[in-house]
Amino acid sequence: MQSRRGFFKSALGGVWTGAAVIDQALLRAVRARAQSTTLPDLFDFTKAADGVYLAVARPQTVLNSNAVIFENSRDLLIMDSHSKPSAVAVLVRQIRRQISEKPVRYVVASHFHWDHSHGLPAFRRIAPHADIVSSQVTRKLIDQETVPRLKASFDTLRASMDGYRKNAASAGSPGEKAHWDRMRRETDDYIREMQNFAPELPNVTVDRDLILHDKAHDLHLAFRGRGHTSGDVIVYCPQKKVVASGDLLHGFFPFLGDGYPLDWPTTLHHFAQFEFTHIAGGHGPLHERSRIYQMANYIEELTELVVRGKRAGKPQVQVEAEITPDKLKTLADGGYGRTTAESILKLRQWPPAKPAAETVIADTVKINVGHIFAALDKNP
Ligand SMILES: [Zn+2]
Repeated sequence: MQSRRGFFKSALGGVWTGAAVIDQALLRAVRARAQSTTLPDLFDFTKAADGVYLAVARPQTVLNSNAVIFENSRDLLIMDSHSKPSAVAVLVRQIRRQISEKPVRYVVASHFHWDHSHGLPAFRRIAPHADIVSSQVTRKLIDQETVPRLKASFDTLRASMDGYRKNAASAGSPGEKAHWDRMRRETDDYIREMQNFAPELPNVTVDRDLILHDKAHDLHLAFRGRGHTSGDVIVYCPQKKVVASGDLLHGFFPFLGDGYPLDWPTTLHHFAQFEFTHIAGGHGPLHERSRIYQMANYIEELTELVVRGKRAGKPQVQVEAEITPDKLKTLADGGYGRTTAESILKLRQWPPAKPAAETVIADTVKINVGHIFAALDKNP
C-alpha cells in the first residue's frame, strides 16, 4: 500500500512533491478519479504563437473544456478550468512537463459553465496566491448556478449510466462493449469526484477592460456584451495576435442554451476589432481569424429565420422542422458546417458506428433553433 504522498507523487509526477498546499479533498478527488492507476493525460497542446498554447481536451464522456496558456516572463496565465478539479491537476502536470515550470499567477474563467469552471478549486489549492479573474456577472453566476445545476446533472448522468449498462449488455462486438463500459466508468468517476463539490469564486472581477503588462507581452481581458452567456470575457494578446475566446468563439457549433442570439453576433463584431490572426477557443482546434465571421453570420442567419417563424405565429416544433441545414446560406458552401461537424466527430467519443457529418449538422441546427426560440421568449 503506497503512502498518500507516494501515491500522489506517482499519480501526478515528481514536480508535485514541492507543492506546498494540497489538501485532502483534492487528493481524494484525484484518487477517486484515478481508481488504482495513474491519471492519464487529458490534453494535447497546440502552439498558437511564441509563449501561447492551446490545450485541446481529449475526448471524455463528461467533456472538458480546452485551456489556453499564456507564458509570461516569470509566470503563467491560464484560461479555463474544465469539468472537474482532477482535470486541472492533470493539466498543470502536463504543462510542467511539456511547456514550463513557471508558477500559475492568473486564472481566467471565461464564463460560468460547468465544463469551464469546476476546476477552479484545484487552481486555488495548487496556486494559492494566484488571482482568479472573471467578469462580475460570471462570478455571480458561478455562485448561484453551480451547485443546483451540478445536482440536476447527476440525475441525467445516472440515467445515462443505465443506458450505457444496457448498451454494453447487448453490444454486438467486444469493441462496442468496451466503448459503453468506458462511458459508464468515466461517468461514475465523475459523479464520485464531484459529489461534495463546492465552487471557488473569482477574487478579481472585470467590467470591461483589464490589461496585464508583462515583459513578454500584454494580456488584454475584455468584456464586450452578452453572447454565449451574459458574462463572457476573452483574453487578447496584441503582440502574439492570438485571442483566447472561451465558448464565445470556438471549434464547435455555438451552444445557445444560456445564450443571447440577438446580441451574440454584435459582440463578436466588437471583438473582431482586435487584431488577432488565431483563435484559441473553449473547444475544438486552433482556428484562423475567419472563424469569427463564420460563427457570427451563422447565428445571425439562424436567429433571423427563427424570428420570422415566431412572427408568423408558428409553434417551436414547426420552426424546428422547417429550418433545416439546406435552408441556411451560411452552411451552403459546406465550409463552416462541415469543418465544425468534423471537429465534433473527432473530439467526442462515439460507438463504433459513428454518425455521418450530415446527421450531426442536422441535429445541432435543430437544437440551436430550439434554444434560439426559447431565448427570444426570455429576452425579447
Ligand atoms: Zn459554455
